[in-house]
Amino acid sequence: MTTEETIFSKIIRREIPADIVYEDELALAFKDVHPQAPVHILVIPKKALAKLSDAKPEDQALLGHLLLIVKRVAQEAGLTNGYRVVINTGDDGGQTVHHMHLHILGGRQMLWPPG
Ligand code: AMP
Repeated sequence: MTTEETIFSKIIRREIPADIVYEDELALAFKDVHPQAPVHILVIPKKALAKLSDAKPEDQALLGHLLLIVKRVAQEAGLTNGYRVVINTGDDGGQTVHHMHLHILGGRQMLWPPG
């Protein structure tokens, strides 16, 4: 399933503002508006993929691309001591925006297990 209209598609189209830290032809990264850590950045595909569990074999390269963007953005944010990457997926995963996204959380010690 894909979704065309979410707050993130509006950010991609520049219809609502965001603090964008990285962009290429396939992806966008911007600061989370309600940060849960000193650094909290979201990495999203421009393709309207609603959630990770909707990904198909043809999305393999895109998913790998997103992870390499995570690495790059985290490095540029100065997260030299580590960070956490989270993909909330579906209702039980706590996903609230139905456009797949990777959370980069850092700048403090992360706890385990997560809530
Ligand atoms: P999730 O609960 O995994 O779906 O995460 C959605 C995230 O999007 C939350 O951390 C929100 O704070 C964040 N968010 C929602 N609206 C915006 C926005 N306009 N700009 C930046 N981040 C947003």
